[in-house]
Amino acid sequence: MERTNPCTACGACCANFRVSFYWAEAPERGLPEAVYAPLNATMAHMIGTNCRHPRCAALSGEIGGETRCAVYDARPSPCRSVEPGDDKCLQARAAYGLAELSI
Ligand code: SF4
Ligand code: SF4
Repeated sequence: MERTNPCTACGACCANFRVSFYWAEAPERGLPEAVYAPLNATMAHMIGTNCRHPRCAALSGEIGGETRCAVYDARPSPCRSVEPGDDKCLQARAAYGLAELSI
């Protein structure tokens, strides 16, 4: 049976947390300079996520609708660590009134 990726119709975790990572990840992964900025001496963050109502600059679309990460292949480690249905995912989806995933 074919499974669809729930993330392409969600994006909630890209607009619910600060996405911060060791600065060297950015050049190592080829992350475009336009989408990240320094956080402190050793860390960087995705622009748009270090604020009270975060939304990553690389995210397009409406949360809960069709969404897309413009830097998916170069996304930093925090983005790679969230799995559909895990605690962070469910926390983010709940913040946007989206149903829990049964995966
Ligand atoms: S909140 Fe969950 S389903 Fe939504 S994009 Fe993130 S990992 Fe995917
Ligand atoms: S880099 Fe991509 S996966 Fe990571 S928070 Fe931004 S839009 Fe989401």
